[in-house]
Amino acid sequence: RKRVLSGAQPTGILHLGNYYGAIRNYVDLQENRDAFYTIVDLHAITVSHDPKELRESTRTTAALYLASGVDPKQATIFVQSQVKAHTELSWLLQCATPIGWLERMIQFKEKSRKLRNMEGDDEEEVKRRSQESVSTGLFTYPVLMAADILLYRADLVPVGEDQKQHIELTRDIAVRINDKYGGKKWKKRGGRGGRVLSVPEPYIPPVGARIMSLQDGTSKMSKSAENDASRINLLDTPKQIETKFKRAKTDAFEGLEFGNPERPEATNLLSIYQLATGYNKESIMRECGSMRWGEFKPKLAEAVIASLGPLQSRYNELVDDPAYLDAILKEGAEKASGVAEQTVKDVKDAMGFLI
Ligand code: ATP
Ligand code: MG
Repeated sequence: RKRVLSGAQPTGILHLGNYYGAIRNYVDLQENRDAFYTIVDLHAITVSHDPKELRESTRTTAALYLASGVDPKQATIFVQSQVKAHTELSWLLQCATPIGWLERMIQFKEKSRKLRNMEGDDEEEVKRRSQESVSTGLFTYPVLMAADILLYRADLVPVGEDQKQHIELTRDIAVRINDKYGGKKWKKRGGRGGRVLSVPEPYIPPVGARIMSLQDGTSKMSKSAENDASRINLLDTPKQIETKFKRAKTDAFEGLEFGNPERPEATNLLSIYQLATGYNKESIMRECGSMRWGEFKPKLAEAVIASLGPLQSRYNELVDDPAYLDAILKEGAEKASGVAEQTVKDVKDAMGFLI
């Protein structure tokens, strides 16, 4: 069976982008593949965090996986930090990853730029704080992500568009390890056909791979964006959803349309409508093409509220039963550890460590 691995960071409540870009595909892919879905808490500490919020968010994220339809009978669900192999493999891979590869990573550039652009009255203080605000972990994050994937010998990684570059890096790292330490020498030691690691492929959906901020159609919807009005969280109330769409940025063009580069907000809101209703573009254009924003927005809100309803009621049942969630995560960590430890052992052996 093919292997699937993916994960989300417990940096807040999952939003529509996370759901349509990734989590929805977790559910589809678990059916006839060997799936591992993790809550990547070690990634969440690459930016400053509050311990209490991390604990809460880790459990909320796990519950939202289940509420979204990830099935613990089919998929292994676990918390990354509870499987020690992730940090161990990450170090081994770091030492095989050229700095230049990481310097090219767009997410690092964007997130570190944001952290550095802190404002304040005292210029010296702002400068000092901004130099200290970007952690080494934020820079090496993609290598930990490579470890997450390679540990499970994943063939497929369901992610949003923003993670494509990190998957390419993961592939480059796997190939480099195979070139350096695989081949005949490794085969002789009993290694899998000479390949130390498997090279994964991204799985990016045709619609929903990049849901944009409600406040700016050119930047992606993110958990860590400061303004909560920029995203629809999966646990938002109907009232909150209505208000957020009502305040969402729009434009002054007449009618509505997909794909006009001058109208990123229109494309984004119509795509969300498409995803929430399951209608195709043509029927949406017939229905909404000549609408004004004031007419379309309440319709959009209604569709999103309806689509989140079942997920939210499952979530509410799950939070009433914390023991159930804990049991799933414990079992998941044990199962994941078994697979991951074997891979670390292989890599260490191939690299020349005494095992
Ligand atoms: P953060 O701001 O903390 O990085 P995030 O919103 O980017 O949070 P992640 O936990 O980093 O969420 O990503 C989880 C999954 O959701 C990844 O597969 C990512 O590609 C996907 N994803 C994130 N944002 C979007 C989006 N706006 N549209 C589609 N997919 C997204
Ligand atoms: Mg992210």
